[in-house]
Amino acid sequence: MDNSMGKRMQEGLNMAAHKILCWDCGREITDMYAYTCPDCGGLLTIKMDLEPLKGMSPEDLRSEPIGVWRYAPFMPVDKKNAVTIKEGGTPLYKTSALGKEIGIKDLYVKYEGANPTGSFKDRGMTIGVSHAVEIGAKIVGCASTGNTSASLAAYAAKAGLKCAVFLPSGKVAAGKLAQAMFFGAKVLSIDGNFDDALDLARKMSEMRAIYLLNSINPYRPEGQKSVLFEIMDQLNYDVPDRIILPVGNAANIWAVYKALTELMEIGWIDRMPMLTGIQAVGSMPVAKAFSEGAEDFVPEQNPETVATAIRIGNPISGRKALRAIYDTNGYSVSVTDEEIIAAQKLLGRKEGIGVEPASAASVAGARKLREMGIIDPSERVVCICTGNALKDPDTIISNCEKPISCANDLEAVRKVLGA
Ligand SMILES: *Cc1c(COP(=O)(O)O)cnc(C)c1O
Ligand SMILES: [Zn+2]
Repeated sequence: MDNSMGKRMQEGLNMAAHKILCWDCGREITDMYAYTCPDCGGLLTIKMDLEPLKGMSPEDLRSEPIGVWRYAPFMPVDKKNAVTIKEGGTPLYKTSALGKEIGIKDLYVKYEGANPTGSFKDRGMTIGVSHAVEIGAKIVGCASTGNTSASLAAYAAKAGLKCAVFLPSGKVAAGKLAQAMFFGAKVLSIDGNFDDALDLARKMSEMRAIYLLNSINPYRPEGQKSVLFEIMDQLNYDVPDRIILPVGNAANIWAVYKALTELMEIGWIDRMPMLTGIQAVGSMPVAKAFSEGAEDFVPEQNPETVATAIRIGNPISGRKALRAIYDTNGYSVSVTDEEIIAAQKLLGRKEGIGVEPASAASVAGARKLREMGIIDPSERVVCICTGNALKDPDTIISNCEKPISCANDLEAVRKVLGA
């Protein structure tokens, strides 16, 4: 790092120098459209130059409002090119009633449903779409179980880019599909599952017909690191013992891990929380690999779960997730759909927090691991709840008590309510 970079940062340009590297063989990648290594086919990752941050403290960033762009010095995009709708800055709730119920005294929920399009995907998309604009892309696209497309459609609209989204037909929750349509994306309903939709999107990207913004794109996890930076800010850098996340394509748990390694590198923290990844029983390649102590996973052919956002048989960043879990002495386990729905209701009924099923997997996992004795009652635990309840109204309507039919009559109302 030369001085001019430090100076540029002080002048407010706020982009960290960075390189794109192959995560597997270490080769540097210069093709802006590549999302795998041309030599070994490996996953890509971004190496940030954090030198300018080394003399700084978290306090130095706090003049900016909490949210993704507070952490611009950790991001590979110039802040002056930001395509933003004020993502991040989500609440961290101390959930004492929920904690009491499941036997963890210090339990927190990071509520990602409060993002602009209702999921954490906005954190990655503000960085990914800003980068797409920087490199002059005209059409962006993604395959999605729903939230990635909802988010991309919104950020593409904000940036004035065309957008194409590839969705597995009939398997996308109503709120997510509505968002992609509403923000003006071309919505393709593919006769296949998520993994099939992704194959098509990748081929379109190889032909340079779209700029691919799935989480295989290494810029997206960079934005998603911000959830960890915010948790640390909100806990005043008192590192929690454990962070629990649902795992689908596994980019988010990887992003949290990457953020932790960066904070270690600049000396802002001196230990890492145990990263704990939760999957659904019908879609559990990562949890299965963990139970066998394996570094790689075996893809599943027909993943099935009510938690559609983690209904992924062949997780793009599965190997990175396993590294994150092993390196932090974390854990991975799967939960049933019944456990997911029960946890979703518990969050709503005890805390007034509405999340979609995939998000509730983190809470279901916390409960299960407490029961198994993996989580100690004295641990400080943060569950990341990834998406808003309104994303998937149909699942809620089919799992809650039906509305009570009542005559348009005061006496009838009193009778029904017993009041
Ligand atoms: C995308 C998503 C996930 C899974 O995140 P990965 O990074 O794919 O592991 C979980 N929950 C919600 C609500 C999501 O939108
Ligand atoms: Zn390689």
